[in-house]
Amino acid sequence: LPGPDLLELDPADVGAAWPVPGPDSDKYTQGVTGVAAGSSTYPGAAVLATGASLLSTSGLVRYAGPAAEAVRAHWPEAICTGSITDAGRVQAWVVGPGLGTGLGSEQVLRTVLEAGVPVCADADAITMLANNPDLWDARDPDTPLVLTPHDREYERLAGPVGEDRVAAARRAADKFGAVVLLKGHATVIASPDGRTLVNRAGNSWAATAGSGDVLSGVLGSLLAAGLDPALAAACATRVHTLAAALAADGAPIPASALLHALPDAIRTTRTP
Ligand code: AMP
Ligand code: MG
Repeated sequence: LPGPDLLELDPADVGAAWPVPGPDSDKYTQGVTGVAAGSSTYPGAAVLATGASLLSTSGLVRYAGPAAEAVRAHWPEAICTGSITDAGRVQAWVVGPGLGTGLGSEQVLRTVLEAGVPVCADADAITMLANNPDLWDARDPDTPLVLTPHDREYERLAGPVGEDRVAAARRAADKFGAVVLLKGHATVIASPDGRTLVNRAGNSWAATAGSGDVLSGVLGSLLAAGLDPALAAACATRVHTLAAALAADGAPIPASALLHALPDAIRTTRTP
């Protein structure tokens, strides 16, 4: 797939970049992540994205949306509200997994894009941006945005992926002025500043429902910790792949098992 101009991030790079708390840390320096995801039909997406955020690096996770009861039942440490207007301050948002695409969801996306903090837009957030380009106007172009499409979401947003996945990711990054994380066995991360990273060694056991919701939760927590958005995308991708390998170990796993393997995956990146 990639040419020699592409950067490849290895686990040692991830270990060096992953935020580690020190004596002066508190939950705010660790990062406050907001999760705007889930619906009455898809509460699980909210549970997975919130859990992934808690198990990555967030000091605090605020969940806002209709799956508050389910999220609270799984993650007592998450601060849950039914409405985004009551969510409180966050340092980055994850928006989209299981959210739906109705008018209420569009308003949620608009609120998140106007918040002036880094955003990971996944799943239904990508579909809404594709269906209703007016939503782009809500975005402050100076705040980092990471789009995390799989191929069908990419196609809605920017046309067919085609044979050259690197070119496709680059095209969308340039068009939208956003970091584009094009998911698949080989994941390509393209930044509008021209950097392109690949994770060639995807773990195919990760290709199950809910897997992408875990990825976006990890990514949101790294954005809330203040990582450069392209580096955050690369670190999230690598740790997600490692978690799949550790959890699956040659047998099928649900996304929740991948989620619970995140701490081991993060430790693995620090082990030479
Ligand atoms: P989603 O479709 O949003 O649930 O995201 C799927 C997740 O699984 C992404 O992190 C993909 O990179 C990963 N994935 C999907 N298909 C494969 C595959 N064939 N090999 C490895 N990883 C995959
Ligand atoms: Mg998805």
